[in-house]
Amino acid sequence: MATREELDLIRERVDAVAVLSRYLALKRSGKNYMAICPFHPDKRPSMVLDPEKKLFHCFGCGEGGDIFKFLMKIERLSFQEAVERLGRETGVELARRGPGSPLARLYELNERVADYFQKNLQDEPGTAARRYLLERGITAESCERFRLGYALPGWDSLLRRFGRTEEDQRLLSQLGLVVQAREGGYYDRFRDRLIFPLADPQGRVIGFAGRLLREREGDPKYLNIANTPLFTKGEALFALHLARQAKGSATYAELILVEGYLDAISLHQAGFTNAVATMGTALTEQQAQLLRRYAERVVLAYDRDAAGEAASLRGMRALRNAGLEVLVALLPSEEDPDSLIREGGAAAFQAVREQALPFHKFYVAHLAAQAPDRDPLRVERLLAEAGSFIEGIASRPLRHELIRGLAEAFGLAEEEVELEVARQRRPAQAQPGPRARAARPGGPAAPWGPEEHLLYFLIQGDLSLDQARQELEPRDFTRYPRLIEAIFAQQGDGPLRPERLLEVLEEADQRTVTELALSQVEFTDRERAIRDALAALRLPRLERELRELKQKLLEAEEHGEREVAQRLLAEQRERQGLLRSLRKGVIEGQRR
Ligand SMILES: [Zn+2]
Repeated sequence: MATREELDLIRERVDAVAVLSRYLALKRSGKNYMAICPFHPDKRPSMVLDPEKKLFHCFGCGEGGDIFKFLMKIERLSFQEAVERLGRETGVELARRGPGSPLARLYELNERVADYFQKNLQDEPGTAARRYLLERGITAESCERFRLGYALPGWDSLLRRFGRTEEDQRLLSQLGLVVQAREGGYYDRFRDRLIFPLADPQGRVIGFAGRLLREREGDPKYLNIANTPLFTKGEALFALHLARQAKGSATYAELILVEGYLDAISLHQAGFTNAVATMGTALTEQQAQLLRRYAERVVLAYDRDAAGEAASLRGMRALRNAGLEVLVALLPSEEDPDSLIREGGAAAFQAVREQALPFHKFYVAHLAAQAPDRDPLRVERLLAEAGSFIEGIASRPLRHELIRGLAEAFGLAEEEVELEVARQRRPAQAQPGPRARAARPGGPAAPWGPEEHLLYFLIQGDLSLDQARQELEPRDFTRYPRLIEAIFAQQGDGPLRPERLLEVLEEADQRTVTELALSQVEFTDRERAIRDALAALRLPRLERELRELKQKLLEAEEHGEREVAQRLLAEQRERQGLLRSLRKGVIEGQRR
């Protein structure tokens, strides 16, 4: 993994215009460049590149991001590969991976540690762990194939074996295998646990996960290493290297995606050697891109509750947006792939696989099941939820398919559902408000509200993070909860750095940021517009607080608490004054 400094240096040095010119015909337009978008059937130039910020955004399909993202999309590279390529181009020396290099030493150490864990499992101390695996129906052959292992009890078994010198201890610590003790020195991270080695697509060991054999108070059932130079959480997939080998070629028509290690192993044992696992976390965009490089189709086999969770649905959307066909296998309730196969064998899973639903049908059925009586209020809420979900789907035909499915499920006209989706639309398709005139390509849609305006000022650097934090709270925003949370969590008080922000955002939020970063809006009075946007966002909170104050005042008077009532009355007057001036500002602003 490249370091923070290396990434910043590449960004600083890279010539974004030169990179994009290799793929697109760029035309100068003011300080920016325009091009026909390569990511959707584009008739006129809809893609904008800002050569200074080094961000791109398509005002037609909403695709956008930084220079790494562009390479990842157009060349189907992983983030790591995009960084390596631009690192070479810009002469930024990344931590080397050649033989004898620091990284090669880490790979080599991981390999030896994997062997050691494996041997522990086969030897006498691994008896209980072997018995556990036997009970779970895991064969000796699978133990060998997945290189399952066992970490000895005690605090320093691994440390004594591999950490003789200070340098060795430092390497173990880098790999996340030992933990620094508060009083100095190190101790083993994995103790008395079953060990699953994690590998990259080439089969090199990049990390480990450990499972408890029996409940232990205060200890999590599964323990994973944190990010290391070889392993980044959310970027790897368990058993992907084995799935590839099984096919004997680099690509796969279909991969089965499960949640747990044991699910994946059970499936391989039952002959489904195309199973890979997300390792217990929600599927990330990086994992979706990784899957896209090896497969055309992904079948999700999560247990029933997990499949319907918001994080899973976002994962499915990420897979679909990566260009994969997505099917959802509906397991019987209370079953996971492992338990299903143990009870019913390969045939039971095969039956479930054959009845898997295309993603859009699954999504519609999932929502419809939440309002079986079509209660209007419930349907309205579900449609609002579906609206913002559908909005994040890149494929237009799929969006339409979902709208049609929902209309049918809820007994509504397609237009009604479409209207609801449009209401949830992000500024990617929006036009600026009445006071702003923008030089922007793109179709007509709803005007920007105060939230879009305020985000625009933050991203453009017109408003400092410090000021935004002083005047607003995350809950003053309702349309971009995750984006706002990430902005408030950014370091520093000065202007927001969009390129840093992009790294921590999901795809839909990344697009919102590049859209706002590359929009050019003219205001008659910019300062005024900033103040108005701040006021408009604070207004609902102030109104709510005032209502609460009134209620308290009534209660205090009822109970004859005169002093309290006096204090509340003063507070109420102050708030009312503030509210009046804020309202006045907003109204005047609209009149201009
Ligand atoms: Zn586009």
